[in-house]
Amino acid sequence: MKAARLHVLGQPLSLDTVPVPDVARDEVLIRIAGAGVCHSDLHIRSGEFPLPPGFELPLTLGHENAGYVEAVGPDVTAVKRGDAVAVWGGRGCGSCRICRQGDEQCCNIALWVAAGGYAEFMHVPSERLLVKLDGLDPIDAAPLADAGLTPYRAIKKILPHLYPGAAVAVVGIGGLGHMALQILRAVAPSTRVIAVDVAPERLAAAAELGASDVVDARRDAAGEIVRLTGGEGAQAVIDLVGSDASLRTAASAAARKGIIVLVGLGGGTLPFSFLGLRSECTVTSSYWGSYTEFQDVLALARRGSIRPTIRRYPLDRVNEALDALARGEVQGRAVVTP
Ligand SMILES: [Zn+2]
Ligand SMILES: [Zn+2]
Repeated sequence: MKAARLHVLGQPLSLDTVPVPDVARDEVLIRIAGAGVCHSDLHIRSGEFPLPPGFELPLTLGHENAGYVEAVGPDVTAVKRGDAVAVWGGRGCGSCRICRQGDEQCCNIALWVAAGGYAEFMHVPSERLLVKLDGLDPIDAAPLADAGLTPYRAIKKILPHLYPGAAVAVVGIGGLGHMALQILRAVAPSTRVIAVDVAPERLAAAAELGASDVVDARRDAAGEIVRLTGGEGAQAVIDLVGSDASLRTAASAAARKGIIVLVGLGGGTLPFSFLGLRSECTVTSSYWGSYTEFQDVLALARRGSIRPTIRRYPLDRVNEALDALARGEVQGRAVVTP
């Protein structure tokens, strides 16, 4: 089978011919229909995001995967050949306190499913990592595995801070951001959603996706958010970029008793001090999403409340998709369709 693999950090992926993986026990082989192209793949490809132990080169990237069950191990009972499924990749040890609470993705990044979906087939280490699509198109559903799931979890963290008319700023309207706007409209429709980005075309798309206001990040974005909210600031800021600049914007834009959720892997830092943020502002990160949160996201898609904007690339053009993403040229999500 064909698989796009990273051999050397900083180099393009190479399209290799590799054996189709075997399945044993409760393992499942998926024929990939769609694999979303995520900014974290760029961070991995460039070497900025250190590979966790267990993720060895050459590595097939791609962690937003959906397709059809091709083969099952002898112990598999939940799915059968031909079923349309998405892969939840945030596997943990399954037995520690965090995992027992259902937040396996917070257990240990080294246990996340390593070999990804930029390939004709993907080996899934256990049937328990699959979610049935029940009517959703796997190509549309693939980006939901991260671009939908990650903002959904971040939005759940901010819900206790919201009230009718409260302002939520979403910084970065890329793959995750364009889903965050739709999820907010679905789960917190009485809030005011402020989209922040550097690119005018992404801000235009944000307005179409339901943002109440759009703010150009190349100017004084925090000042603009404070002005739009009558001096109060945003009750929640979801930072999907994570650079020094975006975190500075978040810190200056967040309201008293507000919350900043850091999601983006931009590598920036936010100095934390008593008077550095408005009173009792919470700062937290958000790690991917749990299995049940993924089920929730798929339910939102099935209801028609959210839908990724996608651009398809065949597998042999995956580097083109990654390069377009690096240049900020992808609107919504690029999806590799082997
Ligand atoms: Zn991702
Ligand atoms: Zn665990």
